[in-house]
Amino acid sequence: METKSKELFERAKKHIPGGVNSPVRAFQAVGRTPRFMKAAKGSRIWDEDENEFIDYVCSWGPGILGHADPRVIKKVKEACDLGLTYGAPTQKEVELAELIAELVPSMEVSRLVSSGTEAVMSAVRAARGYTGKDKIIKFRGCYHGHSDGLLVKAGSGALTTSVPDSAGVPADYTKNTLVAEFNDRDSVEALFQSNPGEIAAVIVEPVAANMGVVLPEEGFLEFLRDITKNNDSLLIFDEVITGFRLALGGAQEYFHVTPDLTTLGKIVGGGMPIGAYGGKREIMQMISPDGPVYQAGTLSGNPIATTAGIETLKILKEDPDIYKRLEARGEKMAQAVRDAAGERVRVNQIGSLLSVFFTKNEVRDYESAASSDLELYAEYFGYLLDHGIYTAPSQFEAMFLSDVHTEEDIETTCQIMRDALCSLRF
Ligand code: PMP
Repeated sequence: METKSKELFERAKKHIPGGVNSPVRAFQAVGRTPRFMKAAKGSRIWDEDENEFIDYVCSWGPGILGHADPRVIKKVKEACDLGLTYGAPTQKEVELAELIAELVPSMEVSRLVSSGTEAVMSAVRAARGYTGKDKIIKFRGCYHGHSDGLLVKAGSGALTTSVPDSAGVPADYTKNTLVAEFNDRDSVEALFQSNPGEIAAVIVEPVAANMGVVLPEEGFLEFLRDITKNNDSLLIFDEVITGFRLALGGAQEYFHVTPDLTTLGKIVGGGMPIGAYGGKREIMQMISPDGPVYQAGTLSGNPIATTAGIETLKILKEDPDIYKRLEARGEKMAQAVRDAAGERVRVNQIGSLLSVFFTKNEVRDYESAASSDLELYAEYFGYLLDHGIYTAPSQFEAMFLSDVHTEEDIETTCQIMRDALCSLRF
């Protein structure tokens, strides 16, 4: 039953664009009514009609400890009693910056902001300020938030033209955003060659998770490290998803490749709005008030959000086996889907990130990801939803596992996924 969700959606559409405050929540790609949620605890989430789901959206990534972890909630409640925001420096910000530097050593100096979008926008500004160059290279299919200059994925095959994806973004704002193909070294080399001395930075999701999950091929991240270094450009890892998820030290620890700048979001805020960007002191010294690159925020370093972030990171730090557990669960789930669907699907999985693509092609870049049959995905999604499994309402997102998905949850989910795949005519 989805009576209340339907009613709320109708009301929402009157006063909120598309009825939602972030587009993918509208379930447009899967042709269903979005579920309006009212509570979540552990691995479960409940909608307004009292339907219970095992949740694999996990708020799009922050929920690595599951929902409403009692340790985090306790600290947040205590912090609330001390006031919600001061607009002045706090001890918590110092503690969080210290923790970030300890767990992600390349982030010697970091600045807190309130979202991943802000973190990336600011990191790019820092890179431009530091190098004195304007152009950046991003990869088709990688998402770095909705700031004007990054809303570009370029038309098919048009690697050197930079067309904004969104109305309202002047072409002038994206002319310095060059687009290469993920896992394609030649496309990156070509851009460096045709723009000599002009590239401030290459920005990449070290594991792409916004075209579904796409892993970097052997040596690709190392190649990006080398080519940026050799051209006096910076390498920016957007670890908004992978940070504290692939490993305590993020993808850079997992793959042993150290970027110049890193952006964080999601887990670093423990479920509250935080983003962070940081890197070597020499680069971060450019940021105001130390240097000429301006960046600011009324609620930056908010005491409630930093409390949730610190507590979450401390829990992860004290239990590093969490990453082994997550990997084992991710592998089990991937195997269940492969066993059930064989050659008819492609499953990309790394740690607690997973995507099922309805294509026979190996998925290694945007083009192959886009070859997935979206109608089949929508049917698959609908079956899971109707059977109590809440996953991303779009092919081009990841499935997120948390530490509180029990063996039983995973077993139940694998069985429903198998049934879902068997129910599809393909
Ligand atoms: N970078 C990446 C890799 C992301 O996945 C996202 C959001 N999913 C962002 C940046 C933007 O973060 P936010 O939605 O917090 O602005």
